[in-house]
Amino acid sequence: MNTAADHPQDHDHRRLGRELGLFGTDPLIGAGLPYWLPDGAAVRHALEEYVRDAERRAGYRHVYSPVLGKRELYEISGHWSHYSDDMFPPMELGGEQVVLRPSLCPHHALMYRSRTRSYRELPLRMAETGGMYRAELSGVLGGLTRVRAIHLNDAHVFCTLDQVADEARAALGMIRRAYEALGIRPARFRLSLPGPGGKYVADPEKWRRSTALLTEVLDSSGLSYEAAEGEAAFYGPKIDVQVVDAAGRESTLSTVQVDFHQPERFDLRYIGADGAGHRPVMVHRSIIGSVERAVAHLVEEHGGAFPAWLAPVQLAVLPVSETQLPGAERLLRRCADTGLRAELAGPELGSLGARVRAARLVPYQAVIGAQEDAEGLVALRLRDGRRLDPMPGADALARIDALVGAHRTELWDTE
Ligand SMILES: [Zn+2]
Repeated sequence: MNTAADHPQDHDHRRLGRELGLFGTDPLIGAGLPYWLPDGAAVRHALEEYVRDAERRAGYRHVYSPVLGKRELYEISGHWSHYSDDMFPPMELGGEQVVLRPSLCPHHALMYRSRTRSYRELPLRMAETGGMYRAELSGVLGGLTRVRAIHLNDAHVFCTLDQVADEARAALGMIRRAYEALGIRPARFRLSLPGPGGKYVADPEKWRRSTALLTEVLDSSGLSYEAAEGEAAFYGPKIDVQVVDAAGRESTLSTVQVDFHQPERFDLRYIGADGAGHRPVMVHRSIIGSVERAVAHLVEEHGGAFPAWLAPVQLAVLPVSETQLPGAERLLRRCADTGLRAELAGPELGSLGARVRAARLVPYQAVIGAQEDAEGLVALRLRDGRRLDPMPGADALARIDALVGAHRTELWDTE
C-alpha cells in the first residue's frame, strides 16, 4: 500500500516539475493551464504512445473529436443539468451557444450514432486521448493535479448487456498492466456509488443493474475494494483506482464505468440478430486517467527517476576527455537512429564525477574513456549505481532498447 511516507514532501511534483524542466505556468496563460516543456512533453509522448499501443492491441479504434460542442449537446447528455457548476460558461457564436466540453462521452455517442450499427460490430471500442475542460476555482489549482484544461485518456465501449462484464474486466486488466509498466501501485480500488442529493440521474433500476455488474467484476477479479457512497458519476456507478500523492491526499487515476443513461439520452441503437433495434450499454474507461494527473503522480512516485521507457533522457553519453568527443557523437547518432533519447554531457561541463552526479536521474550513463574509445566500447553505469563491464556500443544500445521497448521497470537484464 502507498502511504504518505512513501512519497516524501520533497517529491512534490510542482517543485520537481520546475526543477526538472517538465512543465510550467504563466499568469498570462492563466491558472490551471500548464504548458509542457520538451522534457515533460517527452514523458507525456511516451505515456500516450504506451496507452495507444495497449488500446490498439486490445481492439480499440482511435478517433479525434473537437473540444467544443453546442450547449444543446450537453442538455441532451445530462451534463447541463447535473454538471454545469463544473463547466465553463457558454460562448455566444452566431446566435448559438458553444461550450468547452466537460467530457468526451457525448461526442463519442454521436460518432457511434453517425451510422446504423449491427450487433456484429459490438463491442465497438472507441478511444481518444482528448481535451476537456473544468471550471475549477482558482484557489484549488496547482501543478498538474488540479487543472482547467485536462487531457483525458478516455474510451467508450458500446456493447450488449452480456458483454459489459467482460469489457469491464478487460479494462481492469489493462489498468493493472499499465501500473506495472509505470512502476506505480494503486492505493485502493473503490466501487463508487451514488449518494443522497440531486446530483445523480434518477432511475433506480438502472443503478441497481449497473452496480450489480461492477460488483460482479470486482468480486471475480480477486481484488479487495471498498464501496463509497457519493462518488459515482452522475450517470452511473464506477470502479475507481485510487492513488495517493506526496502530501498523502487520495485521488482517482483510473476508472471503469457502466452507463445505461447516455445510450438512452442519445437514443443509441444497434440492429440485433433478430433484425430489431436494441439499446447498447456504454462502458466508459480510462487506463491512466488524465495525462496531467498521471504525470504528476509519476513524478512524485519516482522523484523524477522515471522508468527508462518514460525518462526524458534515457542515456547520458559521457566522454572522459575532448579526445573521445567524436566517438561520443557517433554513439549519440546511433541512439537517435535507434529511437533512444540521449544527451551528450561533455568535459566542458566539469569533471566526470560532477557529470555523473548531474545525470543521476538518467537511467543509463555511457562512459567513454581512451580505452573504450579505441575499442569501440562503452562502460555503462546504471542509475542504481551498478557499473557494467565495457561492451560494444551497439550491444549496449540493443539491450537498452529491448528493455525500453518492453516497458520494463528493471534497468538491466542480468541473465
Ligand atoms: Zn465517458
